[in-house]
Amino acid sequence: MSRILDLLREDLRDFSGYSSARSESLDGEVWLNANESAWANVADADGACRRYPDPQPAALRDALAALYSVAPERLLVGRGSDEAIDLLVRATCIPGRDAVLVTPPVFGMYAVSARLQGAPLVEVPLHDDPQAGLVPDIAAIGEVAVARGAKLVFLCSPSNPGGAAVPLAEIDALSRLLDGRALVVVDEAYGEFADGPSATMLLDALPNLVVLRTLSKAHALAAARIGVAIGDPALIAALRRCQAPYPVPAPCAALALAGLGTAARAQTCARVGAVRSERERLAGAMQALPGVRRVYPSEANFLLVRFEDAGAAFETLLAAGIVVRDQRSAYGLGDALRITIGTPEQNARVLDVLSTRVRPAEMARARGVA
Ligand SMILES: *Cc1c(COP(=O)(O)O)cnc(C)c1O
Repeated sequence: MSRILDLLREDLRDFSGYSSARSESLDGEVWLNANESAWANVADADGACRRYPDPQPAALRDALAALYSVAPERLLVGRGSDEAIDLLVRATCIPGRDAVLVTPPVFGMYAVSARLQGAPLVEVPLHDDPQAGLVPDIAAIGEVAVARGAKLVFLCSPSNPGGAAVPLAEIDALSRLLDGRALVVVDEAYGEFADGPSATMLLDALPNLVVLRTLSKAHALAAARIGVAIGDPALIAALRRCQAPYPVPAPCAALALAGLGTAARAQTCARVGAVRSERERLAGAMQALPGVRRVYPSEANFLLVRFEDAGAAFETLLAAGIVVRDQRSAYGLGDALRITIGTPEQNARVLDVLSTRVRPAEMARARGVA
């Protein structure tokens, strides 16, 4: 048995999961083993939804494996990376004992899944570097993970909402330090917008590394709910046993496969390029605005911005019909908003509103609009 399976919950190590009609490898012509209807629904024109879907649609899995340059057996397809996060926590953490380590301010689903599982949450805040922005303190993470018995360490790279990517050398060092103790999960939801390569490059050398990717952001398929966990094949097989029997709806698989076709991928690539250049343009212009304290360097498709009066900036944008993410309740971000990069026209509107209508609080109050 692979050593990686020692990181699973002891009580799940011999768990074989649900055995569905689809998991039996039988050969037949007339399929009467799953209580499906013998006729298609009239709304299902091509009958694609009459039968239960392939639990891991082979064509989609192969396309995703090619997209991320990994072997198909390293890849679990699920309902967005959110499902992968939840599965990882459920499969590795005994409630009340095994901790989940996160680096606030960061994407909230790691903490939500830990809470639902009853897994202690351990926080090692990002360090605010004047140049690099919000970056993890890898040495501190390693120490705390060992001391607190973390089973999972989530690194978000590029980070939401901070925007900074974690260097591969740091992921490598942390994974080696925690080998045999914890999984290091690198969430690359925004990987397409980053400068550097994916942590999937490190997988062959690091059995306790898991990389999460999704079609929700750069591939513009958020509603299709397709995300993947990429890791050791034995771990992936174990996660599959903990997953729902038919996690990928057939229409979603078909859409995702079409969305990964050659022409679609070329367009996705071009749009990623456009987002990257708009991001730099917008960051430069915002940094020059009065009332803006700091624009963090970003390798994602958003900017994290500190304002002298974030509340006024939020309300003013809202009054102009522009909805951005208020980050003021996030750790250390009491004066910050997260602004997604939109079309050039949308970004111009954001700049126009911020430059003409938002003033530092005192001035706004003097004008009676605060
Ligand atoms: C948006 C986001 C996700 C969610 O991805 P889904 O595949 O849509 O579930 C995961 N991680 C981070 C950091 C995100 O920002």
